[in-house]
Amino acid sequence: MDHRQITRGLRFTLTAVYTLVFTLLLVGVALLFRQTLVSSLDTQVHEHLDQNWAVVKAYLHIVNDRGLTNYHPNWNYDHDDPDESNTVAGVQGVYVIADDQGHVLDDGMSATYETLGEDKPDQIRAVLRSPQPVWLQKHDDKGVPYLIRASYVTGETDPNKKFYVAIGVPLADSQKLQTRFTWMIAGLIPLVIVTGCGMGWVFTGRALKPVVEVAETAQSISGSNLSLRIPSRGAGDELDRLIETFNQMIERLEVSFNQIRQFSTDVSHELRTPITIIRGQLEVALFTATTVEQYREAIINSLSDIERLSQIVRALLLLSQAETGQVVLQKQQLDLTEVLEGIVDQFQIPAEGAGVTLTFDNRTARCTGDFDRVQIERMISNLMSNAIKFTPPGGEVKVTLDRHEDMAEIRVHDTGEGISPEHLPHIFDRFYRVRGAGEQASPEKGLGLGLSFVAWIVRAHGGTIDVQSELHKGTTFRVLLPLHPAAPGMAEGAVAPGEVVRSS
Ligand code: ADP
Repeated sequence: MDHRQITRGLRFTLTAVYTLVFTLLLVGVALLFRQTLVSSLDTQVHEHLDQNWAVVKAYLHIVNDRGLTNYHPNWNYDHDDPDESNTVAGVQGVYVIADDQGHVLDDGMSATYETLGEDKPDQIRAVLRSPQPVWLQKHDDKGVPYLIRASYVTGETDPNKKFYVAIGVPLADSQKLQTRFTWMIAGLIPLVIVTGCGMGWVFTGRALKPVVEVAETAQSISGSNLSLRIPSRGAGDELDRLIETFNQMIERLEVSFNQIRQFSTDVSHELRTPITIIRGQLEVALFTATTVEQYREAIINSLSDIERLSQIVRALLLLSQAETGQVVLQKQQLDLTEVLEGIVDQFQIPAEGAGVTLTFDNRTARCTGDFDRVQIERMISNLMSNAIKFTPPGGEVKVTLDRHEDMAEIRVHDTGEGISPEHLPHIFDRFYRVRGAGEQASPEKGLGLGLSFVAWIVRAHGGTIDVQSELHKGTTFRVLLPLHPAAPGMAEGAVAPGEVVRSS
């Protein structure tokens, strides 16, 4: 398989789409996680500083016991209580206290805060005016970030005097955590994608294997080995259904191929028999006939066999023309009663010859519609000649005409030999003949084209045909024809959608 074949394959497309979707999902989830982590760390730091501020409020007193202007912080807590000492020490890690002029008080700044750089007097005044705490980020001389919570407290002795107090915590730990998380997912995502992509490739390969097998079997199927079937996997899934459909298709093809093969054999036989007879008759005449009478007889016999030959060839030609849409219907206003009466009359003599009673039962006053006279006559003749042919002497053939609103119903019923259920579904197929074991094709038996042609004529007129038959009891063909087809042009030339229904 070359590069282009791989990239065009279903396996590649499926894996690529799957990998893309998987990657997008993974990156999306990772970003969401990171965002959640950042915001929860942020909330934690803010809460921590809010708690520290509560400590400031509780323990920090700004006093000026050293003179009027000399204010200084007094952390008033129980030095013997380790809890209190630790809490206050935690706050004292990073803090600054300044007066409203921006001057840092004595003992008003932790060593760490000094490394963060001084707070500008303007900024301090802004904080003193703000009812809400002000949050800012500062960096020490080594670049470590700190979150600062700046607000104010009032003087112990003078409640009108505000003092600027800023406390902070280093953000190094939470930033380190964020960075570590980012690196971790950045390293993991490609790994997971590569693994997922590999697994996708393997699984789609496995899933598509039956498709490849179907393709290989299909490739090895040809006209000569149509008996090949793809074994079902027994999973009952979509692929099994595909295999089943494929096998059914091959089966239908096999049936068609066999019919065509059978047909070729039958046609050769049908054509060979009259040709052999003609040849025999002519040879006999040539070598043995002495009188004009004998010659004449040989020629007359040969002509009748030649007529049989041309009938076969005409039937074949007509059917192939009909099925390839070359027969154009010549529609005209036609009274079906009159047509049927005419044909029944014509068939009286052959029916009598076969010892069969032929009757016509007209159950409607008028049944006129747009039909091709030649084709309709051909259709009814076919049905009637079959009925007479397959009915033993003493039997009965009955033709009825009925009308249901815009539909004409023609029935050709006989009390003949009937058709067994296994043959019934096939009798409208081309070249299909019901023939007993060992029975040879004979001129009386026909070519099996009659009913295919009947079905085509019915379809071309927008109608339907069905058959009911019981072995040794008789057969009824029922044709329904629309008197005024909905789309008149549709049946012209091309076969209109119709239906052939068989039932027993
Ligand atoms: P064929 O030219 O051989 O008659 P058809 O297509 O007209 O071919 O008919 C196909 C087969 O259907 C016939 O071989 C015959 O066995 C069966 N068939 C048709 N009509 C009847 C009928 N009325 N009674 C019994 N069998 C019939």
